[in-house]
Amino acid sequence: MLGKMMHKPLTISSLIEHAGRYHGATTVTSVETSGEVVHSSWGEVERNARKLAAALERLGVAQGERCGTIAWNNQRHLEIYFGVAGAGMICHTINPRLKPEQLISLINHAAEQVLFIDATFVAAVGQLKPHLKTLKHIVLMGPRDAAAAEAVPGILFYDELVAAEGDDYSWPELDENMPSSLCYTSGTTGNPKGVQYTHRTTVLHSLGGNQPDGLAISARDTVMAVVPMFHVNAWGVPYIAAGVGAKLVLPGAKLDGESLVKLIDGEKVTLALGVPTIWMGLLQALEKTGSMAESLTRTVVGGSALPTVMIPAFRDKYGVELIHAWGMTETSPLGTINNLLQKHEDLSDTEKGSLREGQGRPPYGVELRLVDEAGHVLPNDGVVQGELQIRGQWIIDTYFGHDSSALTMDGWFDTGDVATIDADGYMIIRDRSKDIIKSGGEWISTVELEDIAMSHPKVAQAAAIAAQHPKWDERPVLIAIKSDEGLTEADLLAHFEGRVASWQIPDKVVFVTELPLGGTGKVLKNKLRESFGTILLEA
Ligand code: ADP
Repeated sequence: MLGKMMHKPLTISSLIEHAGRYHGATTVTSVETSGEVVHSSWGEVERNARKLAAALERLGVAQGERCGTIAWNNQRHLEIYFGVAGAGMICHTINPRLKPEQLISLINHAAEQVLFIDATFVAAVGQLKPHLKTLKHIVLMGPRDAAAAEAVPGILFYDELVAAEGDDYSWPELDENMPSSLCYTSGTTGNPKGVQYTHRTTVLHSLGGNQPDGLAISARDTVMAVVPMFHVNAWGVPYIAAGVGAKLVLPGAKLDGESLVKLIDGEKVTLALGVPTIWMGLLQALEKTGSMAESLTRTVVGGSALPTVMIPAFRDKYGVELIHAWGMTETSPLGTINNLLQKHEDLSDTEKGSLREGQGRPPYGVELRLVDEAGHVLPNDGVVQGELQIRGQWIIDTYFGHDSSALTMDGWFDTGDVATIDADGYMIIRDRSKDIIKSGGEWISTVELEDIAMSHPKVAQAAAIAAQHPKWDERPVLIAIKSDEGLTEADLLAHFEGRVASWQIPDKVVFVTELPLGGTGKVLKNKLRESFGTILLEA
């Protein structure tokens, strides 16, 4: 007997169609560039996304061409995600904190046709415009604005484009293997590299990453994506939220702790996602404002290592569970997420707590392995450290604009991270291979040193770097921000005693008032190495 199942391609339009049809009344909250908090719905987002798609076709943008965004997390940005990809074009989200020459090269390299910008960036983009060779239109994400029209002659206005279209556009049938969006890596260790996702990888990531032991976002959640929409598609949250019909909160440009507390309390956010620096700011703001963040039950933390002291700080006072996840732009991003197994149920709270500190296990769709420098596969015993490699259904093959695959001969992607994996598949990132300190042939983990430093009650933030050393090649130097002026170098170094082997204790502490952060909120250790990398030679 012959039989056959329907073939329905895995497209981004199918996610927003579902949100519009089955969760049309569910709220989408957006903080506009002006600071105004606007409430709309998935129904409205879906309608506007279709109208935008129609407008782009009318402007002459063809399937397979790219439209860029330089924008915060807000409703129009969300509509652009779905409108551009739904129409078969490619949504290229650009990190606004890049230098002008990087922006020019990225936009030209992607042969951008249309650039959508928030009001914040009008002046900057006006300056770049003469250098943007392929660009046909710049669109201000808002209503008509006389000052913008003067600053950037010919600029179009998003609200007018959308308002001019009827409600009759229907999404085209697309091949699920067509590219849908383009993001660049944060550029923490080098120049940003482009990763082009497809409809299929995006939908599979939304399904595979959102299992009950994954992000577990449901229609009963109010999800706040603090992670920027230019950082790996806000970790896929907009697609997942559409697919499950969660209430979505897009916090706009102001991501300081107090602004986030207001939104959490005002919108009754249940789950928020972002990098550790964001949660440090939130913790301080909770203390200051006296808010208990009643509605918040969990936050997903990734992008850089979660300081372990933050887990009890959120759990014990606020009842918020911190879920640690690891990923990369190259991995869509979810590679691992930390949830416990049935066999852990009888463990003590302390034992459970220490298991939760690592980066977790891969969901269905992803496989991990460790290799040594010669490429030999290493055991998963939780002890042996190796280069972390990954493969799976939403993992990169070739960087945008490159000719050759980024994979090993046997089809794995080398992450550039050094990790351990235990027998249950729990992975712990020990360091980035570019950051790890190689001292007299031994490795010292900067992540571990930072974690110890940040467990000192008088330290607000810390970063460890490799400083050049005449005898040991490299030695650790700690750059720290005090939260209490009374802290001395000797106090902080004493805090390391007994917590790491004595040869791993930093040679020096430099106190600063600020650490250099990249556009996605990560500490730029290469900048710190430039400033302090020779400090031990000078002594
Ligand atoms: P970049 O490598 O330029 O920072 P990405 O934003 O894609 O660009 O970052 C991916 C990298 O971020 C990973 O390879 C890893 O080094 C780091 N990372 C992500 N999540 C975590 C985490 N939970 N713990 C430690 N490092 C992390």
